[in-house]
Amino acid sequence: MKRRASTIVTDFLVLGSGVAGLQAALNLAQGGQVLILNKGKGPQGSSPYAQGGVAVAMGGQKDQEAHYQDTLKAGAGMCHEEAVKILVTEGPQRIKELIAWGAQFDRKGGQFLYAKEASHSQARVLRAKGDTTGEEIVKTLLRQSKQHPNIKLLNHHFILDLMIRDGICLGALALNERTGQWLPVLAKATILATGGTGQIYLRTTNPEVATGDGIAMAYRAGAFLEDMEFVQFHPTALCVTHAPAFLLTEALRGEGAILRNKRGEAFMKRYHPAKDLAPRDAVSRAIWAEMQADHQPHAYLDMTHLDKTYLIKRFPMIYKTCLSYGLDFTREPIPVSPAAHFMIGGVKTDLDGAATLQGLFAVGEVACTQVHGANRLGSNSLLEGLVFGVRVGKAARRFAARHYKKAGIPGDSLTLDLTEPPDLDLSEDQILEIQRKIKQTLWEKVGVVRSERLLREAITVLTSYHHRLAGCYPSRQIMETLNMATVAMLISTAALNRKGSVGVHFRSDYPKSHGRNWQAHKTLVSGPWRPLTSRRHPPDIGQDCRYKSLLLSAGSLYKWWCVPSLLLDIFYNI
Ligand SMILES: Cc1cc2nc3c(=O)[nH]c(=O)nc-3n(C[C@H](O)[C@H](O)[C@H](O)COP(=O)(O)OP(=O)(O)OC[C@H]3O[C@@H](n4cnc5c(N)ncnc54)[C@H](O)[C@@H]3O)c2cc1C
Repeated sequence: MKRRASTIVTDFLVLGSGVAGLQAALNLAQGGQVLILNKGKGPQGSSPYAQGGVAVAMGGQKDQEAHYQDTLKAGAGMCHEEAVKILVTEGPQRIKELIAWGAQFDRKGGQFLYAKEASHSQARVLRAKGDTTGEEIVKTLLRQSKQHPNIKLLNHHFILDLMIRDGICLGALALNERTGQWLPVLAKATILATGGTGQIYLRTTNPEVATGDGIAMAYRAGAFLEDMEFVQFHPTALCVTHAPAFLLTEALRGEGAILRNKRGEAFMKRYHPAKDLAPRDAVSRAIWAEMQADHQPHAYLDMTHLDKTYLIKRFPMIYKTCLSYGLDFTREPIPVSPAAHFMIGGVKTDLDGAATLQGLFAVGEVACTQVHGANRLGSNSLLEGLVFGVRVGKAARRFAARHYKKAGIPGDSLTLDLTEPPDLDLSEDQILEIQRKIKQTLWEKVGVVRSERLLREAITVLTSYHHRLAGCYPSRQIMETLNMATVAMLISTAALNRKGSVGVHFRSDYPKSHGRNWQAHKTLVSGPWRPLTSRRHPPDIGQDCRYKSLLLSAGSLYKWWCVPSLLLDIFYNI
């Protein structure tokens, strides 16, 4: 069956409307028309949920040096040093711009109030209304975007896949969720800002939209992915039956909250010299170990010894949410356990957000500049979106001006013939069951503690689900589930491939960093239908000469490749 679909043409296409996408759009708008496409009804990614705040060194060079050192230390020797330098030095200017656009950060007597969080050597985390910083930043960027004549934002448009011709990204294929129509969008540059992948885990702090779509579609398109084994678990998410894994920010421990086990012991002193303020990976593993030892589904976060009035004022949203589950943190310890929180790896980019396919850029949580190394310093992620959002905007404008100097976007007058794949639908219940199995598999076998046996078991299970999804009609739900399965396999493969422990990646069979090249970053690439070679796309795109990359052979992932094949044919036929 054939279906005709006319195209939309724009200068710049931004996929996702979180902090990173909106910030990029505002910069891109200086160079042409920007179309932002977003699945669902609005910015429902992680950005509006960010509670702790945004880390920034506003006090000049000495402050920036301290922020730089803290980020490198948390990153366990694997940060791209230049990327970190950019983050800490360009960050203050981005915050000043936000304030000029009307963002309100908490102050006392006219001075900013900075919070101190785990692994930060000083108080440098700016916050808004206590614990709603992400919401304030998104609101500000959204307001600016809506006022800009060059920016158009369309919600309810789910991106199915990127459109590639001759190794160049020409835009993306969207599904209008309301009408069911496919909408090919052609653009001079396409910016992936689709956020994280937390939904592939049973326990996650991430919202429902975090299904890893951007990483999966970049992989299908042949872009390089990097550091996929590095998934950060937040140590303290609420653990109550039938409640989501609501995040209890590190700032609580910054204010003096203490982790306790079933017996009431403050156990962190046995695990790390920094006790409750140890890095996230260390705290997550410690809680995990206590849970295993006590055969308990959680540990406890105790704030009952702290000033009640101050706590309620400082964390109003958290207080209200806990109360809604019948828990008053001023009176009783709160049950907590780790939950998947942040995807450190992702679409490999250079320091300007350029992916390894021309015309494709990535920014925010979907991207991997190596700025977080093997473990992200808390509250650096909002700043990453703000800083690299501007850089990606500038780089994409430069690319468009250079690449499309003489000719316009190819195919801008084309009407595409879209061949629909066979209609092998799974029922809603079957899809939900597959999602549940993927989440459970990842949680049990590719979680806080990993081993070769568990990872191999996970890959076997995930492969079978991937095959079942292949060939189904690409609805939003099917594609999200397929994307989850793809990303789950990529994480498992990368985790199996890293024989050693570093940062957030812990292997019980290799508990130490391993081998001479333990700091090497690992790259994954697809290749069965359009083989890439390291010659055409040299992996060494970083500016850091110490940068190393391991290219998995294209064939090693071939057997898992089973995206609806007719969809891929579209891209050849544009
Ligand atoms: C509970 C929580 C608390 C956090 N607290 C902090 C904090 O205090 N400080 C900090 O720095 N970081 C924090 N983080 C991390 C931080 O919020 C995120 O890493 C960051 O906001 C990611 O921004 P983003 O723009 O890359 O993605 P997101 O904000 O997740 O936005 C992604 C967008 O892409 C859209 N999208 C995805 N797939 C598709 C598709 N196929 N088609 C169309 N649209 C699509 C989504 O709808 C969404 O709008 C927190 C995260 C969580 C979950």
